[in-house]
This record gives sequence, structure tokens and C-alpha cells, in this order.
Amino acid sequence: MKKRRTILISTFVFVVVTAIYWPKRWNYIVIHHSAGNYGNIEHLQRIHDQRQSKEPIHAISYHYIVGNGNGMEDGTVASDLRKKFNLWGVHVSKNNWDKNFRGIGICIIGNLDKSAMTQKQYVSLLKLTKELMEKHSIGIDAIGFHGKLEGEATKCPGKFFPYEQFMNDLKSK
Ligand SMILES: [Zn+2]
Repeated sequence: MKKRRTILISTFVFVVVTAIYWPKRWNYIVIHHSAGNYGNIEHLQRIHDQRQSKEPIHAISYHYIVGNGNGMEDGTVASDLRKKFNLWGVHVSKNNWDKNFRGIGICIIGNLDKSAMTQKQYVSLLKLTKELMEKHSIGIDAIGFHGKLEGEATKCPGKFFPYEQFMNDLKSK
């Protein structure tokens, strides 16, 4: 009897965690650039395999990417199984593990340290970020940029990222 109860309780906890907590745990959005002029899911998958070979998930590091017309259509948004199954991301360092576990990673294809993103990318990024904020009740204070997080040593998403304009546009309806 005791064993049966243990199984019942474990099943209940598992169902609650996977059905209720897991897809609803998103609490942050972190924005990145790919630092390369070409990009799509397959390309970022190869980069992930090379640089993060110990990570067990065969998927890109981010939840979404926004194309720049080189590798995928300008302004289009793509994702893979990391988004599909609400898996954690591997887009920030261990110093910010909670932003990997509960943070949605969005990557703009391009090197925004060399030039600005395209207008279509900007429109898509803004729309996607607003939708995610609405869907997961994520506040403006929980929108972050990779290199601006404490404990991260990177310029990502680059000096040409329009930080101020983006935050202003997020605040306006
Ligand atoms: Zn980054």
C-alpha cells in the first residue's frame, strides 16, 4: 500500500511540474546577437555542438533567432526543440544560471558590434519580445541584454544595438 501511495504521489508531482510549472516558469528575456553575418538554425546548431559539446540537448543555445536575410529570410523568427519543449537555454554563463533556466534567449543574427540590425529584424524582435512579455507576464525590469548582466564578460548584443530605443519602444503600447 505504501509503495502504491509513493507512486501516486510521484506521478502527481511529475504531472504538476511538467504540466503546470515547466511551461510557465519563464521569468526573464535575454537578448543576444550571433556575432556572425550568416545564421540559421542549422548553423547555430553546429556552433553549439562545437562550443558547448557537454550540453546534453541537441538544439541551439537560444529559444528564438531572428534572421537577417543571410541564411534565413530577413526578419523571420525561428526556433527549435528548446522552445518547443520549454527546455532551459545555454545563452549566458553559469554566473547567471537562473537566466538560463528561467530566461528566454533571443538571438539577432548578425554582428551588431560592426553594424546595426535590419529594420525588419528590429520590428520582429520588438513584436516577439512584447508577445513573450504578455504571454508570461514578464515585466520590463526582467528584460536583459547579455553583456549588461552582472557577471558576464561580453559585448553581446553589440554596440550598435539600439538599447535606449528598444526599451522605450517596449514601454510604449
Ligand atoms: Zn549573447
